[in-house]
Amino acid sequence: MAREQKDILLQPGPLQPPWQTSRRIGIHTSTAGGVETAAERAYRLGCSTFQVFSSSPRQWKPYELGGAQCETMNRLRRQYDLKPLVIHANYLINMASVTDEFYAKAIAALRGEMERGLNLCAEYLVLHPGSFRGLTRAQGLQRAAEGIARAVEGLDLARGGLTLLIENTAGAEFSLGGSFEQVAELIAILEPILPVAACIDTCHIHVAGYDIVSNEGYLLTLQHLDETVGLKNVPVWHCNDAKAARGSKLDRHQHIAQGTVGAEPFRRLLNDRRTAHAAFIAETPIDQPGDDLRNVEALKKLVDDGASAGRKPARRKPRS
Ligand SMILES: [Zn+2]
Ligand SMILES: [Zn+2]
Repeated sequence: MAREQKDILLQPGPLQPPWQTSRRIGIHTSTAGGVETAAERAYRLGCSTFQVFSSSPRQWKPYELGGAQCETMNRLRRQYDLKPLVIHANYLINMASVTDEFYAKAIAALRGEMERGLNLCAEYLVLHPGSFRGLTRAQGLQRAAEGIARAVEGLDLARGGLTLLIENTAGAEFSLGGSFEQVAELIAILEPILPVAACIDTCHIHVAGYDIVSNEGYLLTLQHLDETVGLKNVPVWHCNDAKAARGSKLDRHQHIAQGTVGAEPFRRLLNDRRTAHAAFIAETPIDQPGDDLRNVEALKKLVDDGASAGRKPARRKPRS
């Protein structure tokens, strides 16, 4: 299959460690051939962090994860200094579903995500906040909180170092997380239940209507985010350019610097001192082979690490 031949795993590995930046940068990485293969792919793509699905994102039936797979993943992450590991939860999960059957499935699926996250020693699990269609907003929030509490019953997430991240959405009707205030509200409700913070997606910010494109807009939007969610509570950013216009509420990701967001907002974000603790992960499309590598490189080149902000030797030597 042509697509398989292009797999970076089937090409010779890099002769020297990929250059790294002072910011943790990565991309959503394929787990074809087993979840543990993603660490090698991420390294070859020049990442210092990465995101995966721990099971098929559009099917309810989860993969079985073996102990050996988790060990391989951990060994490669140590060797290549890849952190954090972010897992994106299944798209089918709606923790505020009005339908009892789908609500029960969502709880079971989220529990599976949590268990696999703990087994893989992942730091973060990203969850879309869900849709309260058929309920009032208050009922939806309540249902989501109760469902999440049931999903994590008996799991020691704090000990396992796993934090749930609520992602802001593109702002569609009935979404529980279409604004910074809504994300903050959900986090506040969940805080007594489990370790929780936010994942903020640049495409979703933009199409939800916030201005991050103009310099002034960027400053105001980040200030607003800081006053609601708190920038310190955003350990992961999803860095995606957008195909659709600001305020369109259309969630279509585009390659970095090639969409309606453009390069400058990413440059500001990646060099903003207030976000220095965070990981920056692209979820950009792969239209052509090599698009994943090009998007990682595009983000890395925007990090200003002093005078020679271009290609440079690895700052962090991988341990072997
Ligand atoms: Zn995202
Ligand atoms: Zn999206």
